[in-house]
Amino acid sequence: MVPGAFSYHRPDTIDGVVSLLGEWGDDARVIAGGHSLIPVMKQRLTDISQLIDLAGVDALKGISIDGDTVTIGAMTTQHELITSGTLHEVAPIIREASLQIADPQVRYVGTIGGNVANGDPANDMPGLMQTIDAKYHLAGPKGERTVAARDFYEAAYFTAREEDEILTSISFVAKKGGYAYEKQKRKIGDYATAAAGVLLSMDDGVCSSASIALTNLSDTPVYCDAAVEVLVGSSVDDNSITKAVKAAVEASDPVADTRGPVDFKKYVAGVIVKRAIQSAKTRV
Ligand SMILES: Cc1cc2nc3c(=O)[nH]c(=O)nc-3n(C[C@H](O)[C@H](O)[C@H](O)COP(=O)(O)OP(=O)(O)OC[C@H]3O[C@@H](n4cnc5c(N)ncnc54)[C@H](O)[C@@H]3O)c2cc1C
Repeated sequence: MVPGAFSYHRPDTIDGVVSLLGEWGDDARVIAGGHSLIPVMKQRLTDISQLIDLAGVDALKGISIDGDTVTIGAMTTQHELITSGTLHEVAPIIREASLQIADPQVRYVGTIGGNVANGDPANDMPGLMQTIDAKYHLAGPKGERTVAARDFYEAAYFTAREEDEILTSISFVAKKGGYAYEKQKRKIGDYATAAAGVLLSMDDGVCSSASIALTNLSDTPVYCDAAVEVLVGSSVDDNSITKAVKAAVEASDPVADTRGPVDFKKYVAGVIVKRAIQSAKTRV
């Protein structure tokens, strides 16, 4: 399959991208790594006459760390997330999750911005970003604004981003404590049957803060408030883990597909969430 004809633009500033989006409206689409966009163009599932390549915009690239605040440019690749030693020091969950995405070929080109902006419920980074309570920074004709990852996802492939906006960067405050990103998939290179991110802090044997989010268990990532409430104030013992797992599974809403029926996915979700909490606890 070959895509339909399109014009190619390669601006070198964020303003240049925004101006092209304003000029072409619905006919235009930005391209980052192209791993998700090019297949849908080839299958003619989307009709784009203007393709705006973000590769020339240096302002969208790189990782900066200021104290405990981390900012990652939208065009930073998954490979760069994995190989950044400074990022790993402050937020090791990012490397753990990124290493479970597809394979090295995909990770060399796939970007964090494309992964989170696409709104694909199977992508791992939206759930990861909800786990670390990341904020998404958007730029459009009306200026810049920030949306929390936990408020960004509305339905599969529908997000709070307006069509004339681009995601410029992602920021979050790195927290000390235990972490884990656990994923069950059918084979290397596959999307998750179920995955979960967990952050956990303990003070004198009592959980002082927690965070749990799920991947590919609903049409959006799922932040598990009820499960977090169970853990905070507990000693994260077997009893509270069982209750938290139950709450997380109740918050999920998977659909049957080639990865299995709903009951199977909920069962796997329970196993994965339990493993992630236990693993995070061992790393506090
Ligand atoms: C074989 C294969 C296996 C994969 N397995 C996994 C997996 O297990 N887990 C996982 O998480 N991912 C997986 N992926 C997805 C991959 O990791 C990429 O992150 C993903 O395809 C999107 O990133 P991209 O940079 O290629 O974006 P693109 O394909 O270029 O863009 C995707 C969409 O996002 C929009 N977009 C891109 N950047 C921006 C921006 N800055 N602002 C606004 N909109 C933007 C584009 O317009 C497009 O609609 C897999 C991909 C492949 C091909």
